[in-house]
Amino acid sequence: QLNKTFGQHFLASNKIITEIINKSELKSTDVVLEIGPGAGALTFRMLEVVKKVIAVEIDPRHVAELRKRVQGTPYAKKLEIIVGDVLRVDLPYFDICVANIPYQISSPLVFKLLAVPNAYRSAVLMFQREFAMRLVAAPGDPLYCRLSANTQLLSTVEHLVKVPRSAFRPPPKVESSVIRITPRNPRPAINFVEWDGLTRLCFSRKNKSLGSIFRQKSVAKLLEENYRTWCALNNEPVDPEAGSMKERALAILTESEYEKQRARRLDIDDFIILLTKFNEAGIHFC
Ligand code: SAM
Repeated sequence: QLNKTFGQHFLASNKIITEIINKSELKSTDVVLEIGPGAGALTFRMLEVVKKVIAVEIDPRHVAELRKRVQGTPYAKKLEIIVGDVLRVDLPYFDICVANIPYQISSPLVFKLLAVPNAYRSAVLMFQREFAMRLVAAPGDPLYCRLSANTQLLSTVEHLVKVPRSAFRPPPKVESSVIRITPRNPRPAINFVEWDGLTRLCFSRKNKSLGSIFRQKSVAKLLEENYRTWCALNNEPVDPEAGSMKERALAILTESEYEKQRARRLDIDDFIILLTKFNEAGIHFC
């Protein structure tokens, strides 16, 4: 039962493990964060080359097994294990993150890693192929979506290795890919909650024009509510002359020539331009 919930596809291909280690470009001074070490397929290979591995593992049986395997070896001092759910623990300082993770936590984990305050080099992570392709998708690609835009706002994403099902024991039902996520440093000076609200709206119908999305009654209502909340939070009086938020938003879309465009073709810069213009006009997405 435990195995089912925690994800149990363990890396069994030395060739793939070596490829992951090589592409990670580990340094002897590195502190590596590993998520879900399991029986240690990646862990031991990394302990050979880096200064320290901090592994976050939720399953106490794997923790016990790992502790036993390092006991009395030179690696005992180099391996630190944090027992717990990676989505709930405070992440320690690290230089690079390398992991074959349970796929069910892919999305929250990416955003947790993109929110950590310390500037690490990169995260080299195994994902289900389709999720990986959505992360790297460019505007116009069929898989381009809110996840692509949100991730690419905060990082550059590269596809590193295609991993067949046969590389795991037991083999999963889906193909996998290893991806490198390199956080942008410094982080873009953007209110991420506003950004998330805007992209959520624009991608709610990714094949519809922005004009028709902003003409929906529900969107008009949402923008009015957001405006009132924003005024309340910022101690600003509600402007009775403001007119409807819908008209304001449509005027901005028409002026900036985004009215007929669709989210699936807009890149990060387009969304930044739009968000700036909307916010300047008092239109808020949170
Ligand atoms: N990295 C190992 C390998 O490649 O052989 C194991 C990979 S297995 C797909 C996922 C591992 O993550 C398991 O050891 C599982 O117990 C652990 N795990 C699952 N959910 C977790 C969570 N929320 N936080 C930390 N570890 C988790």
